[in-house]
Amino acid sequence: MAQTQSLLRVPALYGGPSSGGPPPSSALRTLTKCSPLDGEPIAEVELAGPAEVAAAVEASARAAVSWGRTPVKERVQPLFRFKQLAEAAIDELSASISRENGKTHGEARAEVEKGIEVVEFACSLPQIGAGRLLEVSSGVDCFTRRYPHGVVAGITPFNFPAMVPLWMIPIALACGNAFILKPSEQVPLTPLRLLDLFREAGLPENVLQVVNGDRSAVETLLDHPGVAAAAFVGSTPVAREVHRRGTLAGKTVLALGGAKNHLVVVPDADPEITARNVIASATGCAGQRCMAASVLILVGEAEPILERIVEEGRRIETGKSMGAIISAAARDRIVGYITQAEKEGARLPLDGRGVTVPGREGGSYVGPTIIDGLAPDAACVKDEIFGPVLTVLRVKTLAEALAIENASPFGNAASIYTTSGATARAFADRASAGMIGVNIGVPVPREPFSFGGWNASRFGHGDITGEDGIHFWSKQKKITQKWTAGAASNWMS
Ligand code: NAD
Repeated sequence: MAQTQSLLRVPALYGGPSSGGPPPSSALRTLTKCSPLDGEPIAEVELAGPAEVAAAVEASARAAVSWGRTPVKERVQPLFRFKQLAEAAIDELSASISRENGKTHGEARAEVEKGIEVVEFACSLPQIGAGRLLEVSSGVDCFTRRYPHGVVAGITPFNFPAMVPLWMIPIALACGNAFILKPSEQVPLTPLRLLDLFREAGLPENVLQVVNGDRSAVETLLDHPGVAAAAFVGSTPVAREVHRRGTLAGKTVLALGGAKNHLVVVPDADPEITARNVIASATGCAGQRCMAASVLILVGEAEPILERIVEEGRRIETGKSMGAIISAAARDRIVGYITQAEKEGARLPLDGRGVTVPGREGGSYVGPTIIDGLAPDAACVKDEIFGPVLTVLRVKTLAEALAIENASPFGNAASIYTTSGATARAFADRASAGMIGVNIGVPVPREPFSFGGWNASRFGHGDITGEDGIHFWSKQKKITQKWTAGAASNWMS
């Protein structure tokens, strides 16, 4: 990365500190990246065109051959070293995430730690990736082996600059692929630092590359015949299109989309735990996470618990315990939703519009917001808002709450707050989502359990991490062989 007039210049194609890469091209479009914390410009990002994407695929294809033939036990050694390097660099990585994404240092640190968990999982591939073998007839063995796809790509969103790339990279590399990361152009810095650490850990040149760009780079990757598989994480309309376009081009594609997560509170819920947890879910990462609480469904007598939730929300200090919104445009979009709700007659027991942080007037902030009294078909109830906005609905029974949750086209996460095991179990059975929480508002499964939603929150098969990740990033071969010492005959003869 070069530094021009105190702005970092982020190259369209990056292969690591020692790999050089093409010189900056004046023909490329660029984007000025500003920090959401204070609005200050921090980087000039080159946006890759078809030539940069083609160069990345070509270099990856060369690297994929020897990397794919390297025994898995050797392939995971750089991952062990990466884990140590990432842990040693965690403060620096967290600072980078916070600066470019706007989240708090604590949240940034937690996302690096979660990403490292996937690295640990990938390090166990020599053990958990052992295939199956059965003597299916006398002298005849059937066994399975997994092979890499070759060149694969990952396209990631702005909200987890380290964690989402780390959902993909470690497992894909351990499986023997050469990986091209196309991070969100809104968070171009942290992924480059991750790549530096992988190279420092001993990953061979071009086994991992970063292509910076926008829609055009994604489409070129998806159309390129040299890319065999692609994983995507981002919003639902783009996920749907990436899945369609990639599979049409013959690739294996898994595309995780957006979310609208429902949190259901029944009358026997513990008020203290519930209030704290609901607000933490709705305001963590300023609501910009696919696991965030978005619709709160209160079953039965609701006033006391709602008052407590509002009280908890008032304690959040925007700019301190809650971070910024990724951009001014995203902030304005969120504010637009709140204003529309107000026009539709909603009450706003908490209204985060117009919040500024002293000393950071150029930053993009929205305070915690609670919207009450909307009809179930209002935009704030149905759309993914992706900000610290919680919309409250009231119903009489759990069945009604489940009907609302089930009717949502999304299906990432759903949670219930209750002290009854039977109620929790019924909810877990009937909610239409891939990840269920019981008294937990952000039910992210920890490794080795895999991460992934249902319905319009996921296009393709399986989850992105865990064993599903191994299946996604590799192909299974079934080998049947006959070795008989004499003329013994069997069904294969
Ligand atoms: P986004 O869909 O705008 O962008 C994601 C990636 O796609 C970026 O790299 C971007 O450059 C690229 N892109 C954008 N528009 C494109 C287009 N038209 N064609 C091809 N590529 C395009 O998402 P975002 O705003 O960066 O991230 C927020 C979204 O991601 C939210 O909807 C959130 O719910 C979702 N998300 C989902 C998960 C999950 O696991 N399901 C996890 C994190 C984020």
